[in-house]
Amino acid sequence: MTDQSIAISKELVCKGSMEVYTVAEIDNLLEYGDYWVKGFLQLSEEHQKLFYVGCSNCHSKIDIEDVGIHYQCHVCNKNVVTTLRPLVVMIVNDHTITVKAIAMGDTAETILQNSISNIAKVTKSFQCQQRR
Ligand SMILES: [Zn+2]
Repeated sequence: MTDQSIAISKELVCKGSMEVYTVAEIDNLLEYGDYWVKGFLQLSEEHQKLFYVGCSNCHSKIDIEDVGIHYQCHVCNKNVVTTLRPLVVMIVNDHTITVKAIAMGDTAETILQNSISNIAKVTKSFQCQQRR
């Protein structure tokens, strides 16, 4: 465990009073939702994008690549604007099992300890360096 992962755990536990589950218990739950686990996080892929373009109202992923485009969302049926949404795919494990998990929105920003604008800036800069 790194010092950084300890700091993230303490910060998240202090924010809420929800029950803490093991990763195995979460894996057995049939209901989609937000749950607290105490374990270790690791990016599932080192070079993942860390964001997607989605609806500004319902946050559904859409097939438009540009941000700030006005369109009618096919999920919530509202006239909205395309926006960047944070997303991180992780491997989560504790003493029970290891699972792949996805964090989006505020949760992803908390885990990445950065705002979506900084996440997108850093990711795009890194992708440009990789192409050189
Ligand atoms: Zn929508």
